[in-house]
Amino acid sequence: MDERARVRFECRSLGNACEWALAARTTEDVLERVRDHMRCAHAQPELPADLARQVRASVRSG
Ligand SMILES: [Zn+2]
Repeated sequence: MDERARVRFECRSLGNACEWALAARTTEDVLERVRDHMRCAHAQPELPADLARQVRASVRSG
């Protein structure tokens, strides 16, 4: 685990049946990685604004 990580996110918090989770330094980093994950794992090339909002709301610090 990255010791600099500040925020955590789990894909299932978006309602996906998916165990993918990540820790990152900032919410912006999370959004970047979620964008990649959505493209690779969920065949979703773009992150819609409402989904980005959900990601921001679901990110947990600590
Ligand atoms: Zn996922």
